[in-house]
Amino acid sequence: MTSLPLISVDPDARGRRPSMPPRHLADLDLSGRQALVTELGEPAFRAKQVSSHYFGRLVRDPERMTDLPAATRERLAGELLPTLLTPVRELACDDGATRKALWRLHDGSLVESVLMGYPDRVTVCISSQAGCGMACPFCATGQAGLTRNLSTAEIVDQAVYLAGVAASGAVSGSPPRLSHVVFMGMGEPLANYSRVVAAIRRLVAPAPEGLGLSQRHITVSTVGLVPAIRRLASEDLSVTLALSLHAPDDELRDELVPVNQRWKVSEVLDAAWDYAATTGRRVSIEYAMIKDVNDQPWRADLLGRLLAGKLAHVNLIPLNPTPGSRWDASPKPVEREFVRRLRDAGVSTTVRDTRGREIDGACGQLAAAGDTDGDSRAATA
Ligand code: SF4
Repeated sequence: MTSLPLISVDPDARGRRPSMPPRHLADLDLSGRQALVTELGEPAFRAKQVSSHYFGRLVRDPERMTDLPAATRERLAGELLPTLLTPVRELACDDGATRKALWRLHDGSLVESVLMGYPDRVTVCISSQAGCGMACPFCATGQAGLTRNLSTAEIVDQAVYLAGVAASGAVSGSPPRLSHVVFMGMGEPLANYSRVVAAIRRLVAPAPEGLGLSQRHITVSTVGLVPAIRRLASEDLSVTLALSLHAPDDELRDELVPVNQRWKVSEVLDAAWDYAATTGRRVSIEYAMIKDVNDQPWRADLLGRLLAGKLAHVNLIPLNPTPGSRWDASPKPVEREFVRRLRDAGVSTTVRDTRGREIDGACGQLAAAGDTDGDSRAATA
């Protein structure tokens, strides 16, 4: 993923075996929910009613589901809407336009999500795994390894929960309706492929089956799992692919993004261009600007040559340095020169806004702060 998150370790959870959460309505499509409700001895249409509350009205409190018989409300909600995410901490910054949420999962793992309001849209950044197995050296989450994949519903519930926060008017200066979702929180989404794709289907299905978001407003980030990129292209989904490239040459990328030792820059870019051709969607090339590591002018020129004429946009990410890390952000003049060279090569390029820095920056840092041992901080972008 691209947000370069940090470790999520709950000290209480150490040594405990991670386990998957209870089944939730969002794990199932509508027909699966209807079958479940029937198994529970209720008429199938109850599945639609509960789904309408959860996805349509963003309501999960059975007391507010007044169209359900009082006698079965609690039981149905308990079976279909078990608590998956317990808020541990929620912080706001950017004058209330950014809110970060830290969640504890049922097995004690910590993950986080970020809600970002803009004048024309509201975006959530969500996690797909607790921890990550991709081992990128500038990312402490990667150093600590993968705890477990999130379930489909654990992924979806982050978006639904924060859609409710947005609907309450808590995000200043933005519309109240959640419109965009980016899979750039903790984890490598394509390493949890089937649950992430199922989560996307829930997010884009119209209410009451899902949240009713536009496919074009969903972005899936990856470090470059080539077979999974090709599989995603065949899913008949037109979500945006964000490729965390971080280096244009194999020598450096082998180090910064170790999965490059398996799939080289040329293979990853070929898969990205095939994805763009199949879906018609421009690929976002994510590039963390790391001082004296990947920010040299010659690397900008090489990147420009690789991307010129392609359906691609470069998103440069100023690295968010944290105390004690050996990785630092590129100086602004270096960043500006990098942008200039890419644009001169005809490559559309922007620098990512650095939302949320005053509340522990990018995805993962809040979870790191939630680790009371406080020993897991590192640089993120
Ligand atoms: S190890 Fe790499 S892929 Fe995994 S969360 Fe960190 S930056 Fe993303």
